Amino acid sequence: MRDLTETPPRLEVQNLVRRFDGQTVVDDVSLTIPAGQVTCLLGPSGCGKSTTLRMIAGVDMQDRGRILVDGRLICDTVFRIPPERRSIGLMFQDFALFPHLSVAENIAFGLTRGDAAQARRVDALLERVSLSGFGPKYPHELSGGEQQRVALARALAPNPRILLMDEPFSGLDERLRDGIRDDTLALLKEEGTAVLLVTHEPHEAMRMADEIALMRRGRVVQRGAPYNIYNAPVDREAAAFFSDIN
Ligand code: ADP
Ligand code: MG
Repeated sequence: MRDLTETPPRLEVQNLVRRFDGQTVVDDVSLTIPAGQVTCLLGPSGCGKSTTLRMIAGVDMQDRGRILVDGRLICDTVFRIPPERRSIGLMFQDFALFPHLSVAENIAFGLTRGDAAQARRVDALLERVSLSGFGPKYPHELSGGEQQRVALARALAPNPRILLMDEPFSGLDERLRDGIRDDTLALLKEEGTAVLLVTHEPHEAMRMADEIALMRRGRVVQRGAPYNIYNAPVDREAAAFFSDIN
């Protein structure tokens, strides 16, 4: 049992299971993320990463297991807090900006009050992602990298305690990616947000993660600091997965 004087982790996922058509797609996955830490859920395509994220976001429901935020239960198999009340921000590759809304309107979308305080918050967020003055522009006037920064600002607008990112950089030009990864990381560290970032690229996980959870066929097979996992992979399959990094 946990020491009661200890601060509970920002996000705690306990024994999540999800089955589709009799197939177990997420098989007893547990994760713990303290505030201000980035955990990368890393694994090949189809291993169950997005399904895990969808359950945490609350847009899908697990068959078994529980999810807690700051020690408070947000969902088990009978009780469920709706997605909009979980204090969880989302940044998904296919979760694009609204093309008919300006940059400022896109960012304000998740905020509730249409007043001066909201306008100031939008301006502050634009500054945080180095896009001051971009508020009146429309998504089609922006580069891919700039659109990604706006998506980040939108995800952070309601001050979420947790940010879930599903392959957020994979649509970007190779040249741009490392810079945006580093900027994003620096920003999230300052905000103190707990981040769960899904990726199938070992290089991305090595660059961004405080902790990697290596996933395969629905199971987390190894968890640890990036260099520990890289230097001491749990088995041959894990070693092979990392072998293309130099
Ligand atoms: P990843 O994000 O790691 O690529 P996913 O979580 O998207 O993997 O998918 C894991 C497995 O679950 C895949 O085999 C996928 O086809 C299956 N799956 C995901 N969502 C559904 C669904 N709604 N119905 C049936 N099968 C699904
Ligand atoms: Mg996926």
